[in-house]
Amino acid sequence: MKIEEKFIRYVKIDTKSDENSSSTPSTKCQLSLGKLLVEELHSLGVNNAYLDEFGLVYAQIDGDKTKDSIGLIAHMDTSPDLDGGNFEPRVIPSYDGKDIKLNDQYTLSPKDFPSLKDKIGHKLIVTDGNHLLGGDDKAGISIIMSIVEYYIKHPEINHAPIKICFTPDEEVGRGSENFSVKKMDAKIAYTLDGGKYNDINYENFNAYSLEVDIQGVSIHPGSAKGIMVNASLVGNEFVSLLPKDKIPSKTEGYEGFNHLTDIVGNVEECKLYFIIRNHDDNLAKEQIKEFYHIQSLLQKKYPTSKIEIKVKESYKNMRSYFDKDFSAIEKITKAMKKLSIEPTFTPIRGGTDGASITFMGLPCPNIGTGDYNCHGRYEYVDVDEMYLVFNIVKELLQY
Ligand SMILES: [Zn+2]
Repeated sequence: MKIEEKFIRYVKIDTKSDENSSSTPSTKCQLSLGKLLVEELHSLGVNNAYLDEFGLVYAQIDGDKTKDSIGLIAHMDTSPDLDGGNFEPRVIPSYDGKDIKLNDQYTLSPKDFPSLKDKIGHKLIVTDGNHLLGGDDKAGISIIMSIVEYYIKHPEINHAPIKICFTPDEEVGRGSENFSVKKMDAKIAYTLDGGKYNDINYENFNAYSLEVDIQGVSIHPGSAKGIMVNASLVGNEFVSLLPKDKIPSKTEGYEGFNHLTDIVGNVEECKLYFIIRNHDDNLAKEQIKEFYHIQSLLQKKYPTSKIEIKVKESYKNMRSYFDKDFSAIEKITKAMKKLSIEPTFTPIRGGTDGASITFMGLPCPNIGTGDYNCHGRYEYVDVDEMYLVFNIVKELLQY
């Protein structure tokens, strides 16, 4: 079966995860895809494939034991941002560079999405305008399943032992929660997840969550002079003292930010919720210091109030691992160069499952899949790029 045929089969299955669910996996529908993938692996002759008690799929394909075993990972769930599954994806056999009318209301245009400009002549798959496509990350799954099929059908071709894993709940930050390095049993691994076919990611943010809790002094406004401390006003002052340009809408690349995600307040109490992000952990810690500085300023100004800060580390930049051992990046770079593909290295402005997996002891950078505009109705996949990634991974398994 062709990669795009697998892709269309998988995206028709709804696998939306749910951030408000505490069950494992967060939604039952993800298990339908897990079961289908295990069945497909069995029918290919990969009899060791199984769905574990947490909803992860594992399988191994024997190979040349003198080569390092390579893990390939993709996630089965789709973003809770929009419904996926149960729709008819549309194949555009050769993109002409013009607007793509998704339905009467929505148009996918190269004016809004410049990535389309270098897709002319490529085969694309788009949505019906009402669903997300789910190429994040069923493009990754389709490529991995095609790799398995290829090497099973060509037993004469020598290759590294292949270890595969499909995870649930990546989109709700729980993708690596039940991932087992032991079950995967690989030397190095790669997540195949989103973005341009030649993109390699081995840097992500250092991430903290920070909460400012302000206790004010509440009294009848008629007799408040010199006594009342309105916690919400202090909260407002706190935010106004933070650096104006260190916010998501004014930063890019390696620049870090403080992002105010929520304010809850009245006179008595005000809570400010932030996420702190920076690729450089020392700079992230500097950003946190600024919060403590403002805290002490305002605490002096309003001695009868009480201002507290709580900080929690969320995840770390996997680069600190790759600075010591670059071999996983070297391997994938070598595979691309062999195919005359020049890799790009994009620092991720977020986190990845690969980062957590790397810190579990299995180095796991990410590579692109040819999927664009993920998490919404404008998502599309470039089928030609999926084949390029297939070729890159095929080559990677030769080392
Ligand atoms: Zn993804």
